[in-house]
Amino acid sequence: MYLDNSATTQVSEEVFKEMEPYFIEEYGNPSTLYGIGRESKKALTLARERVAKAINAKPDEIIFTSGGSESDNLAIKGIAFKLSKKGKHIITTNIEHPAVKNTLGFLESLDFKVTYLPVNEEGIISVEELKEAITDETILITIMHANNELGTIQPIEEIGKIAREKGIKFHTDAVQSFGKIEVDVEKLNVDLLSLSSHKINGPKGVGALYIKKGTRVVPLIHGGGQEKGIRSGTENVPGIVGFGKACELAAERLDEHYEKLSSIRDELIDKVLTTIPESYLNGSRETRLPNLVNFRFKAIEGESLILLLDAKGYQASTGSACSSNTLEASPVLTALGLDPVDVHGSLRISLAPESDAFDVDEFVDTIGEAVGRLRQMSPLWNQELDYDGVMCKKDHDDCRRC
Ligand SMILES: *Cc1c(COP(=O)(O)O)cnc(C)c1O
Repeated sequence: MYLDNSATTQVSEEVFKEMEPYFIEEYGNPSTLYGIGRESKKALTLARERVAKAINAKPDEIIFTSGGSESDNLAIKGIAFKLSKKGKHIITTNIEHPAVKNTLGFLESLDFKVTYLPVNEEGIISVEELKEAITDETILITIMHANNELGTIQPIEEIGKIAREKGIKFHTDAVQSFGKIEVDVEKLNVDLLSLSSHKINGPKGVGALYIKKGTRVVPLIHGGGQEKGIRSGTENVPGIVGFGKACELAAERLDEHYEKLSSIRDELIDKVLTTIPESYLNGSRETRLPNLVNFRFKAIEGESLILLLDAKGYQASTGSACSSNTLEASPVLTALGLDPVDVHGSLRISLAPESDAFDVDEFVDTIGEAVGRLRQMSPLWNQELDYDGVMCKKDHDDCRRC
């Protein structure tokens, strides 16, 4: 059972079928004028229309990239370099994806100033604090739509309104929210918005940046002038075709998937919190994606839990796939104000629409057993059995926790 759909998703049959002809039969370069090139060009045009339609944009506002990370880089560096004469201040949050966070870190080394807004224990920023952070030097606000570790959703519409009033460019990373909740660039009041194909059952290595008409960015990749000169390089035609199809399907099935996923999510949250002692939900209960939950269990190591669940056939993660090769506490969970010790006992479960095939009761029982096993071995847990001076006597009679 694959439960890590926030890390990546399976390419859907329909998407794969749509891509297939563009490897061997229709291999033309879209920039050429003869028949086979024109076919590729047509395919790009259709894909661009599909992506645009899915987010209520116009086709010429879509720039294809190599994925979410490149889109974030293009938006942030592109605006920073374009507007650096106007000011060098950027506002963001302290829970951004590394593609945003590390891009901003790079800009700081070039003398840009970055304000990192804190989030509350629910994982949401304060719009008041955002307003206060704005200065005459502020050229860009970049705040993610939904967080990839927590699933919590920021008030993008409201932030967009403020940015627009002040004449500040506003970028949002919508990689996790797209395909899960409505992403409408007009309603959200954004100037730039990042998308990635492989999080919505499309192929890896392709994505898009929405750039509102009239917004100018400096390109990252110079060359033959593809994508209106904003992103040179021969287009990844099969990838873009697959991405276009994935966008179309995601938009068509949005409501159906929302209902299905959110009901499994709610069942999962209820069962975990009521049956596993000292278990908690990380981030807001209400303001969250339908497919993503993040729990923490006291006195265990998330990595050990992942391995025990894997042995039972459930593949989930502790947090973001991007930080699983470092042993640092997740900066996103730490930003919620949690004790670093508690942060280590976290489990992220991200569902796919196919997940209705799995048995929530059985899964939660498996988590409960694994957590119990790990706690038996946990010095942290055992030392905490001492409640009001009453030690657990192993028969557990006097122990409140047992
Ligand atoms: C996955 C992800 C990215 C990176 O997208 P890639 O296509 O893998 O480069 C960026 N932002 C968020 C929120 C993500 O979840």
